[in-house]
Amino acid sequence: MLDKLDMQIRNADMIDAVNTSEIVSNVISTHLVPDIMGNLRAYARQGFRCTACGKSYRRLPLTKNCTCGHKLIQTITRGSVEKYLKLAKRLVDNYDVSSYQKGRIHALSDEIDLVFGKNKGDQSLLTDYTS
Ligand SMILES: [Zn+2]
Repeated sequence: MLDKLDMQIRNADMIDAVNTSEIVSNVISTHLVPDIMGNLRAYARQGFRCTACGKSYRRLPLTKNCTCGHKLIQTITRGSVEKYLKLAKRLVDNYDVSSYQKGRIHALSDEIDLVFGKNKGDQSLLTDYTS
């Protein structure tokens, strides 16, 4: 999905530089912002899932393990939210989009920092436990 967007923008860049900003602006409001917000919302009410038996939990048990003894993982990780945010930030910085849209992306970025915390190496992501 991201690769497709990237290619679309790169092609537009070659054809007509002025038009690209419009396409970029369009992609941000129709794809990136809804995806980021959807992922954020999903993250907020997500649960945990056992990697072995598939049992799901509303919240992480104190042992951090399933009753079957295997590790639990979050169903949505910071990475899945941030990959879209990163692209959106890159686009608003590199193309001539409206200041409203720039502000929107930066506000979303702040919101993501609030939800996940500033620290990128945060252990609570549990992505290290997936194997
Ligand atoms: Zn289990």
